[in-house]
Amino acid sequence: MAAIRIDGVSRAFQGGLALEEVTLEVHDREVLTIVGPSGCGKSTLLRIIAGLDSPTAGLVELDGKVMNAVAARDRNIAMVFQSYALYPHMTCFENLALHLELKKVPKKEIEARVHETARQLEIEPLLWKKPRQLSGGERQRVALGRALIRNPAVFLFDEPLSNLDALLRERVRHDLKELFKKINATVVYVTHDQIEAMTLADRIVVLSKGKVQQVGTPEEVYGSPANRFVASFIGSPSMNQFEAEMTNGRFRLGTEEIRTTLDWSGPVVIGVRSEHVVLSESGVPAELRWVEPLGSHYLVGVQVGTTSLTSTTKARPGSDRVYLRIPEENIHVFEKQSGRNLILGHARTAAPLQPA
Ligand code: ATP
Repeated sequence: MAAIRIDGVSRAFQGGLALEEVTLEVHDREVLTIVGPSGCGKSTLLRIIAGLDSPTAGLVELDGKVMNAVAARDRNIAMVFQSYALYPHMTCFENLALHLELKKVPKKEIEARVHETARQLEIEPLLWKKPRQLSGGERQRVALGRALIRNPAVFLFDEPLSNLDALLRERVRHDLKELFKKINATVVYVTHDQIEAMTLADRIVVLSKGKVQQVGTPEEVYGSPANRFVASFIGSPSMNQFEAEMTNGRFRLGTEEIRTTLDWSGPVVIGVRSEHVVLSESGVPAELRWVEPLGSHYLVGVQVGTTSLTSTTKARPGSDRVYLRIPEENIHVFEKQSGRNLILGHARTAAPLQPA
């Protein structure tokens, strides 16, 4: 068992609050990714779990035991950093063996475990090299090996792929996905890259300005974003969002009235993913602005009055005059003031609802 509970954790620095009453659970053997823009508090949260930093308020529990006063070295947690943090004067073998030597593990066992870990990560040929003789991807594997060999209760990853180029990032991401499945351990993984967060996670935590915006599976945060921030941060291209005046669940887009599944009246922000802006034979007349061929599909920019929208299509549009359809079940309605997703707050209902 290795479940983590973060209960009302805040962290104040001189510049203000880096974390504000963060409460969340990491389930045993789950991969939880924490995603958010630069400065939102991701690394601070990870460092607090690791015991490298202390919360100003709140509790950190590991398997039901409060860890606040437990030193980092006694938490049975291994952390992999963006900077790799390998000892440059040691060979890879020595880097991997160090923790076990400090624990006074017998020499023969150390040797066996280093080789077993190296085999698992396919870095055996690198064992006698020093970190400076390795590529970024190879260094990352050794850093991973150093965490794996400890066989900890929890793995923490702080932007481990940030120093790799785009192609290598993708490959190492797939390797990590396989590795996580194989080791079947509790993993907390911090990244600012929403694709990394989506692809590696069992569940995602979206963080902004030190506050949790949403916790859910990749499908939940993509398909049912809790608010406008999550809607724009998760997904590429970002969700289309535009202001509208809603009357009894309908709003005007260009010449047409569009129906939603929410009975609501008042000023709102409408959200639609690009794949749900469907170019069609009829519907809302729009003007084609640009087309980006992306190989398997096209990204298309269209204009309806003052509203710009992005659509994903299979085929290149044949004319500059196009028509749009937006299926009502794919329309998100956000409250204008708070940005919260009104459709999540209310069952889609025919009963009239009044704005707060
Ligand atoms: P990035 O993706 O850029 O690494 P992050 O989401 O990991 O960002 P943190 O490093 O956790 O963000 O920082 C959160 C906030 O706390 C930032 O405003 C940062 O400036 C501040 N902060 C972090 N560490 C300290 C510190 N030791 N002293 C003062 N302020 C700090």
